[in-house]
Order: sequence, then C-alpha cells, then structure tokens
Amino acid sequence: MQFQIFEPDIEVNAPTVYAIIDGVGVFTNLSRRYLGQVGIGTVVDKKLVLDMDGWYSQAAWLQAFENIAKQIGDRVLFNIGYSIPRNAEFPAQVTDIDTAIQSIDIAYHCNHRKNGQPLFDAATGVKRDGIGHYGYARVSPTINEIVCVSHNPYPCAFDRGIYLAMARRFQPTARIVHDDAQECRQHGAETCTYRITW
Ligand SMILES: [Zn+2]
Repeated sequence: MQFQIFEPDIEVNAPTVYAIIDGVGVFTNLSRRYLGQVGIGTVVDKKLVLDMDGWYSQAAWLQAFENIAKQIGDRVLFNIGYSIPRNAEFPAQVTDIDTAIQSIDIAYHCNHRKNGQPLFDAATGVKRDGIGHYGYARVSPTINEIVCVSHNPYPCAFDRGIYLAMARRFQPTARIVHDDAQECRQHGAETCTYRITW
C-alpha cells in the first residue's frame, strides 16, 4: 500500500524530505501547508525551513507526502523521483547499471532509522528490517533487463522515476515499464514490479 508505514518508530532524515519537496518546485505552498499540518519543519519568512540534521517521523512524513501527491498527480510524482538521484552522491562501488540499481536500497536504508538506530551498517553491509526494499534482480547475465520489485511505502510513480534515473546514469538509453501483469500498490497491493531494459 502506498503511504502506509510498515513499522512504527521509523524516522526519515531531513535531506530526503527536502529532496522530495524541492522536487515539487512550484508547489511550495502546498508542501508548506501539508508538512506544517504534521509538524515537520518551521516556517520562517513564509518559507518552510528544515533542520538538515533533523529526523522526522516517517508516519507523519508519509501522511504529508500522500496529501501532496493527491494534488500533484502521477506525472509530477514520477518527475520528482526522476530528479532525486541527479543531486545525490554515490559511493565508489557504483560503477554500472547493476550496482546503481542495487545502491537505491542501500541509500533508502541510510536515509531512514528505527528507534534512533541506523538501518544500514556500512561496515558489514547489513540492512535492518522496517521499511521494506527497493528490489533488484537480473533476468539473465546475457539479457539487458533488470526486474525491480518495490516493497516500500513510497508511491508507484515516484519509484518508477527513481529507478529510471539511476539506470540512465550508466545506460542513457534505458527504458522502464511498470509490469501491469503484476499487482500495484496504487490499488492496495504490497508491491509493484518494474522492468528496466536497454
Ligand atoms: Zn505500481
């Protein structure tokens, strides 16, 4: 289900919230109103200000994001997702489309925490549960296709944008389709499936 938390006591960091509301762009007033309603950020000179070292309740954030999403529609959600990796820094291990798609789930876990504790341990590479995943599966080593199953509370169109942007960093001709033969979170399912080809 889109916007439904998996577990309580999860928090999201301010740069993640900022990257998404910044992507809303002209809808700044919208972001300010809905984030204000759930107590995220403070308004200074009519602008929403986030403490960039801060962490916010994921449940509150998803409530605001759902309200914003209803106003802006899927096309803008896709564009926001697509814009997020553009400004992100990537670790040195990200060298091709496979490692790029795999890195989404790592970044996702780095940007959330549970009971104040990180969900990703960089020393061991271990991810902790609580927020679901951004999936990665190679169909075959000789076929240029990656299947991504999203099992997380973020919206379908937004995730499609993130996957495509990451794929195109290394394969500029990459395309993505939502596998409509599978279930979709927009219709209450647990997961969405996307197919990236190039
Ligand atoms: Zn979907």
